[in-house]
Amino acid sequence: MPRRLPVKPDRFLGNLFILLVFMALIVVYYSVIIETLGPKLLTSIPAKLLTLIYHYFVAMLLWCLFQTIMGDPGQVPTFWGFHFGDHESKRKRYCLMCNVFKPERCHHCSTCNRCVLNMDHHCPWVNNCIGFWNRKQFVLLLVYVLICAYLSFPILTWELYNRLPVEYEKFSRETTNYIGFLPLAVTLFGWVITGAASYLMTNFLRFHIELILSNKTTIEFLEKKGEEFESQYCLSPKENWEQVFGSNKLLWFFPVSWASGHPMGDGIYWPLASDMLPSSHTSQQEGSQETKRHESENKALMNQHNSVKPDSSRYANSARNLSDNKENSYNPNINSDREKVQRPPLESRIDTVIKQKDANTLIVHSQDRNQTLKNSLMKK
Ligand SMILES: [Zn+2]
Ligand SMILES: [Zn+2]
Repeated sequence: MPRRLPVKPDRFLGNLFILLVFMALIVVYYSVIIETLGPKLLTSIPAKLLTLIYHYFVAMLLWCLFQTIMGDPGQVPTFWGFHFGDHESKRKRYCLMCNVFKPERCHHCSTCNRCVLNMDHHCPWVNNCIGFWNRKQFVLLLVYVLICAYLSFPILTWELYNRLPVEYEKFSRETTNYIGFLPLAVTLFGWVITGAASYLMTNFLRFHIELILSNKTTIEFLEKKGEEFESQYCLSPKENWEQVFGSNKLLWFFPVSWASGHPMGDGIYWPLASDMLPSSHTSQQEGSQETKRHESENKALMNQHNSVKPDSSRYANSARNLSDNKENSYNPNINSDREKVQRPPLESRIDTVIKQKDANTLIVHSQDRNQTLKNSLMKK
């Protein structure tokens, strides 16, 4: 049985980082809106416009931040790997702490104390792992932090440029009451934060976009110690991007995981670059024969076990989906020069393989159940 491990003290301490992030956001918001744009709102139209735009991006930032902190990075499905054929390779990737087989690109996070699908890294600033289901939200968070920093830094620079000489005059005359200079100190602090964020986030975001476009994770990058390497999962840049951001371009800018806005695939099966090479006629024939074989075996097993209710609807769907696969299955259109290959969309290719694997589960599952039934009958 998969094991749910207790939360480690590191995870509780990680909440302090989230507190720091919110404090930094409050300081910057106070500096930009309350101290700088607020007093000009009644008289200046550019200030009104800037305030409106600024609030839109702050709202997006908070939405992404909330989704990244609270979102599930990706759990290994219960009993995954127990019924698939290649036991040897699965045995090598077994998590003794969680009691689960680890799909490829899945890692155990020592801070979260659990296995995470397509784990990118554990981010202390959001106190959560970045994995298959919240990587899009995390990258969007970086984008909106950067936009807010790019907006705030010039606004605060201009404000301080105009205000500092006046405040300095006042400061040199003042002897007792220094509390009055606190808003200026906070604004200066906000300026430092936005300056640092502008510089650091530019590099950090570029690093993550490069990783996504080449279909790598931070862990895979660190495993190679930063050396240049070609990922075995690297398809085309567009397909790599869609595996994180989904196929709907309109939803690329929103931290949503529904409909076509979710990452393509299931976080378990990852198409390899080598699978996408033009396949020979023989391999296509083998593929379709394999599909037909699964289909006929499924139908036979479904007939045998249609009395078993709890899972039958799911498996019936699997068998039905499998028969649909004949139309969706990978069938590259090789031109006469055998160079250009028209591939079906990535989504249908991934779906085809996932459904086939689901059907394989059905075969083994049903065989197990058949054996159990036989054993119970023999005992009687
Ligand atoms: Zn684990
Ligand atoms: Zn973690």
